[in-house]
Amino acid sequence: MQLACLDLEGVLIPEIWIAFAEKTGIEELKATTRDIPDYNVLMRQRLRLLDEHGYGLPAIQEVIATLDPLPGAPEFVSWLRERFQVVILSDTFYEFAMPLMPRLGHPTLLCHKLEVAADGRITDYKLRQPDPKRQAVRAFQLLNYRCIAAGDSYNDTTMLKQAEAGILFHAPDNVIAEFPQFPAVHDFESLKQEFLKASL
Ligand SMILES: [Mg+2]
Repeated sequence: MQLACLDLEGVLIPEIWIAFAEKTGIEELKATTRDIPDYNVLMRQRLRLLDEHGYGLPAIQEVIATLDPLPGAPEFVSWLRERFQVVILSDTFYEFAMPLMPRLGHPTLLCHKLEVAADGRITDYKLRQPDPKRQAVRAFQLLNYRCIAAGDSYNDTTMLKQAEAGILFHAPDNVIAEFPQFPAVHDFESLKQEFLKASL
């Protein structure tokens, strides 16, 4: 049995924080782990900025619901689901990703969770576990699934290594150069071909 494990942001949908920053004009929300390597420091800053600008979860979800999946992503997901069991492994939060899931046909999604007060203010966040993408692949392998994984960035590379086959999709040049063991493709037609090549 084979499982397709897909990253979400940068593969099927835009980077949510960056897209939200563009929609709202809050420039500092474009900071990523490249600017602030400590994820907890970065998340504290994001939550502080949301507070300062008066964005609670309902307002954020309204903005996120106006985002579009990347062109061709919904068709790719349905192509993939006809051939594999598909699981999305993401470092986003359910509360952010759910408004976009109808556009992708509600695939299975494993990610993190926010804590939200009654007035909609985001008070905290809960990461599912450390190294969550790799741990999910490990767990599927214990269930005798062979995993083919695709992602675009550093937070995917431990998942790609753990999987029986890993594919870089839409990855920046520095990630491609640092991980030459993975095929790197940039459009959905080529990604389909890589999944077919990697499958038994
Ligand atoms: Mg990504």
